[in-house]
Amino acid sequence: MQQLNGKVPGGPLAEKWDRHQLEMKLINPANRRGFNIIVVGTGLAGASASATLAELGYNVKIFCIQDSPRRAHSIAAQGGINAAKNYANDGDSIWRLFVDTIKGGDFRAREANVYRLAQVSNNIIDQCVA
Ligand SMILES: Cc1cc2nc3c(=O)[nH]c(=O)nc-3n(C[C@H](O)[C@H](O)[C@H](O)COP(=O)(O)OP(=O)(O)OC[C@H]3O[C@@H](n4cnc5c(N)ncnc54)[C@H](O)[C@@H]3O)c2cc1C
Repeated sequence: MQQLNGKVPGGPLAEKWDRHQLEMKLINPANRRGFNIIVVGTGLAGASASATLAELGYNVKIFCIQDSPRRAHSIAAQGGINAAKNYANDGDSIWRLFVDTIKGGDFRAREANVYRLAQVSNNIIDQCVA
């Protein structure tokens, strides 16, 4: 019978993943300052990747083809991106955003993925705004 290999690192239970992180050259927190990462594109994709990588401790340089990073298409998106912010009294919730999004997608989206989107939408919007 074939056994599944979860590729779980060795060592004592409580140290497995911490040790694994330290053993990997590219993600070891002590090495991060030594890496220069080049990101191409200053839209939401490039900017959020750059912000996250910089926060993790890498040196990040970000480039774009336009004369200003703020000319990315992302700045043109003014219809808004939805998130379940749940301000006082607005009756918003993860479930409501989930149902709205499923309806908005003509019931063709994968429910589990849409639910996840509704769950993490707040963090994503906060990061994009930052
Ligand atoms: C008018 C308009 C309205 C929209 N409205 C909405 C909306 O209301 N809600 C919504 O959710 N979405 C909307 N969208 C879609 C949304 O804006 C995009 O899906 C999203 O912004 C894409 O983000 P991105 O970071 O992948 O790409 P972009 O924001 O397009 O960023 C691409 C980056 O790559 C850089 N680049 C490209 N080629 C090169 C190169 N050769 N060398 C160096 N740099 C390069 C560009 O300079 C730019 O900085 C809208 C789009 C447009 C155009």
